[in-house]
Amino acid sequence: MLPMPHQPLQVAAVPPQRSPAREVQAGPWHTEAVCRRDEAGLFFAPSKEPTAARLAREEAAKRVCGRCPVMVDCREHALLQPEPYGVWGGLTAAERRVVLARRRRREVELRNAASAAGRIAAAG
Ligand code: SF4
Repeated sequence: MLPMPHQPLQVAAVPPQRSPAREVQAGPWHTEAVCRRDEAGLFFAPSKEPTAARLAREEAAKRVCGRCPVMVDCREHALLQPEPYGVWGGLTAAERRVVLARRRRREVELRNAASAAGRIAAAG
């Protein structure tokens, strides 16, 4: 498993800090992650964070992601794991769930279309 540019929270308590040691562990895209050191704690929610504060923090994290050269790789990683917490690749956990649901729906539609095409072809 690839090391993360920012650590996922097991318990939403204290925002994790990026570790300098991660440079040693880093995979191909992690080395360029703008959030390697998240001193501001933007990417994960502290416990009992009020909604307005969460929205502001997430927007700030997304602005960081917006200038990150590895945003696409990071986003795909977070979608494929999937990462349950935090902002990854410019998406919140809720936004990633929406993207994943859309992908699953699209896959089902494609499978159904392929199946229907196969039946039509078989019927001649
Ligand atoms: S896209 Fe955002 S979360 Fe991902 S590595 Fe870049 S700054 Fe970090």
